[in-house]
Amino acid sequence: MLKFAIIGNPIHHSWSPFIHQQFASQMQIRLTYEALNLICENKAIFAKHLESLALEGYCGLNVTLPYKIWAFELIQEKKAQLSDRAKYARAVNSITFGTPWMGDNTDGIGLLRDLKTNLRWPIQGLNILLLGAGGAARGALSALISERPNCIHILNRDLSKAELLSQSFTPSLCEIRGFSEVDRKIPYHLMINATSASLWQALPSTISGLNAKGSYCYDMVYARLPTVFLDWATTQGARAISDGLGMLVEQAAESFSQWHHRMPKTSIVIQHLRQQL
Ligand code: NDP
Repeated sequence: MLKFAIIGNPIHHSWSPFIHQQFASQMQIRLTYEALNLICENKAIFAKHLESLALEGYCGLNVTLPYKIWAFELIQEKKAQLSDRAKYARAVNSITFGTPWMGDNTDGIGLLRDLKTNLRWPIQGLNILLLGAGGAARGALSALISERPNCIHILNRDLSKAELLSQSFTPSLCEIRGFSEVDRKIPYHLMINATSASLWQALPSTISGLNAKGSYCYDMVYARLPTVFLDWATTQGARAISDGLGMLVEQAAESFSQWHHRMPKTSIVIQHLRQQL
């Protein structure tokens, strides 16, 4: 039996076991996929856990908060293989235990597939506002840039993080700049909330003065009911809204396809998951 797992802390809320089992039954692949809560005080302890899991016969792992950056650093230090998108994101959410180990970041492609294939929202030529400058924003950036928007403005409470992020992707195919306050003169066609504010039922504190009329508004957080950001966008007269459930399933599908060399069907899994929330 093939063994996989997601590691993080906390992890009890994770839908990844459900998603991967749905993919596996589509393709009649027998596998186990566990959610493993790892409590690691430092990177050395985290490294020991990874080595043990590889020795225990796990074929691959997904990695979630708070370990994506440590996973990237460890794979870099081991001089194992890192995909370009993991290098850009400086974070790993998917590990394949082969010789050598391979670290990837599937968050960006997951977001892009949800925006383009599932939602059929345009990206090319648009002014994009990315709210937040944490790991999720970093993972999304290179994928968004590859679609050649007109500009990507990163809005973050901590301006230094937004600037650092914008600089690490400059020069680029489009203008990328960091802000800590809304520039009211710029009409944003697509707004992506990559802050964790919705987890606490709060609007991003940076949103003051923002106009979402006619915009596409996406929240990476997903929930049974629309998030506060999506409610705000609807009140503002947004053109379309979506939460990040599709992104979650698409990033999982990309990991799955690397492990099993076949791409699962995602739309039916998104529907099933929506019913479970
Ligand atoms: P990080 O902790 O790395 O970053 C959090 C970001 O949110 C920071 O930029 C922080 O700003 C900002 N922030 C937090 N609270 C507020 C607030 N009240 N007002 C304004 N800004 C705020 O988290 P991640 O980047 O890893 O994840 C962000 C979100 O994306 C999470 O909620 C996560 O669940 C979701 N996510 C969803 C995925 C999916 O598949 N759907 C995949 C990955 C992530 P500052 O720097 O100023 O502190």
